[in-house]
Amino acid sequence: MLFSWLRSRRRRALAAGPFPAEWERLLVAGVRQVAWLPPDDGQLLRGMVAVLLAEKRFEGCSGLELDDEIRVVTAGQMALTALGLSVDLFDRLGSVLLYPGDFKAPRSATLGSGVDIEWREPLEGEVSTTGAMVLSWPRVRAGGRLRDGARALVIHETAHLLDGLDGEIDGAITGGDGRWEEEFAVCRDHYAEVLDEGRAVPFDDYATTSPAEFFAVASECFFQDPHPLWRFDHTLYDLLAMAWRQDPRRRVPASGGARRGG
Ligand SMILES: [Zn+2]
Repeated sequence: MLFSWLRSRRRRALAAGPFPAEWERLLVAGVRQVAWLPPDDGQLLRGMVAVLLAEKRFEGCSGLELDDEIRVVTAGQMALTALGLSVDLFDRLGSVLLYPGDFKAPRSATLGSGVDIEWREPLEGEVSTTGAMVLSWPRVRAGGRLRDGARALVIHETAHLLDGLDGEIDGAITGGDGRWEEEFAVCRDHYAEVLDEGRAVPFDDYATTSPAEFFAVASECFFQDPHPLWRFDHTLYDLLAMAWRQDPRRRVPASGGARRGG
């Protein structure tokens, strides 16, 4: 109780403090969406960035040397995604690990025969149950500059984090009344049908892997290129707006957010 009171007092002080000019330059250059935020939201985002940079341990892996650009651009995208919720979304996250490219994560399993096997799975990013977000820095940078289409790694991993708040990363969002999950399942079926018919879909078909991946990949598109997503499926857009408590369609230019970065 005392700890949380002290923490929120510290957070208020961090959020109200001056935002260094160098961070400002890096944030605006590296997180293109910041320029489209209304002033109040922009201020909120900068406060969240200051809190994340103070509270989370950012670490470079496999020889990646961290600098302010990497820290500010990564925290900026985390804050953008959580803007309608709260920086509390990241409370269980201790570290943000950044790699110079895609990386291989150690995996192990026991086969039915009782034999243990180990292998390394190539990944762009992941959120681990031990409280770390692991990211490929080139993909983080591309997402912030809107140069990766509707993809954005930080948004993807933050979506898994939100999804996992209820203990399970399963595409079901905490606080839903059951109707959210039902309508979300209908949206997944609709997406799969359109894909089967060979028609265009606004986001990557990696979404069909599982309900959790559908939520994460659709969330990337929701933030990065919301207009095609809304035209594709109004209900899906509304469900995502409910989950994230944001309406990016109001700020991202209709000409297509993802394409503006070139
Ligand atoms: Zn995923």
